[in-house]
Amino acid sequence: MDVLELCRDLLRIDTSNPGSDEAAAAEYVADRLRAAGIAYELLEPAPGRVNLVSVMPGREPALPRLALHGHLDVVPADPAGWSHPPFAGEIAEGMLYGRGAVDMKGFVAMMLGLQLELAEHGRPRRDLVFCYLADEETGSVLGARWLAEKRPELLSGVAEAIGEVGGFSVALPGGGRAYTIQTAERGSLWFSIRVPGVAGHAALSGTANPVRRLGPLIERINALRVEEEPPAAFRALCTEVARLTGGPEDDPEPLLAPLGVFGQAALRGRRTDFVPTQTLAGRAPNYNVIPEVAELGVDCRYLPGGRERARTALESVLEPDMTYEMPASTLEAEAPVVGPLLEAALAAIRGHDPECRGLLPYVMPAGTDAAALSTLGIHCYGFTPLPLPDGFDYPAMFHARDERVPVESLRGGMEILFRLATDY
Ligand SMILES: [Zn+2]
Repeated sequence: MDVLELCRDLLRIDTSNPGSDEAAAAEYVADRLRAAGIAYELLEPAPGRVNLVSVMPGREPALPRLALHGHLDVVPADPAGWSHPPFAGEIAEGMLYGRGAVDMKGFVAMMLGLQLELAEHGRPRRDLVFCYLADEETGSVLGARWLAEKRPELLSGVAEAIGEVGGFSVALPGGGRAYTIQTAERGSLWFSIRVPGVAGHAALSGTANPVRRLGPLIERINALRVEEEPPAAFRALCTEVARLTGGPEDDPEPLLAPLGVFGQAALRGRRTDFVPTQTLAGRAPNYNVIPEVAELGVDCRYLPGGRERARTALESVLEPDMTYEMPASTLEAEAPVVGPLLEAALAAIRGHDPECRGLLPYVMPAGTDAAALSTLGIHCYGFTPLPLPDGFDYPAMFHARDERVPVESLRGGMEILFRLATDY
């Protein structure tokens, strides 16, 4: 079965989160596996919210297992402004269009294609555990987090995992390509800061106006820097890019700028960021009322190991009467930047793409299902292989209008994944 057909079928199933559920996509995967005689288990933590786990036994069952994971849900898509409808799986000029083409039904189709291929032709070297997951786009609660908390035995013996985001190629200045691999990701903390004041008439009082206090607070948050070293993956990225391009290893901004959107994203992986995202105070039409309280929402992304550091830093810019809550958070993930899996990934890429000049480890600035799986001690890598034509801006496709993937890239990725799965 061609990976392209599998991907088109999956794109035609609307799994918008929020909006639709994953059941139909999980059923689609289940139907294919059943027809090929492959065992699987369906897990439904809430009605319609379905995960599927399936194990392909390896030739050397004593080896640690490798998990492959992909999420079945996608972010919603407003068809207005798309040049091809987001849930039709249309192909034009060598591109497959659809919500999820890169995030991440392309890889889900590769996982399924790999299972069907292995069922016909031979076995992987080690046991492979395939996880088709729900609910990644709104925090993994009914997907990876649920699986790690409620059914961890399904992942027993798994030492490493591959999933999003990485494996795509980036063009190097001066020619050739390198391939990315996510070896770490930042965790997130959401703060809701409460700034108190004294309510009153705007024309008469104003000494304790909480809205006025927001301004200096936001400035202090914008200027906030946490004292910390960049993660190993960031240092390894700089070393490798400097080797491949001759750029300045100790000056990350000019070094990574030629790598486009990927370079910009990777730069965020060197430090903790605090971004004010919400303000809440007062209410129209009462422009003459000083509110009693103002609230400020802040999105914080912290480096692996830096959760408490980030929290302490945020506290340092609050005044004594300001309090905060943390309505939600996610964990970080970090795996070694060298090792047999990375070597096998590079060998698999080179078997398909002789112009591959290296592998670029990096810190994913946002969160994925890897954080939840890491709580089980699994080393998670973002590696969904995809050899791309020069000029195709893959990171810009995530959650974007006209999300699309080159058809040949999908097939090339399938080849690389098959090599990796059978050789590693
Ligand atoms: Zn995703």
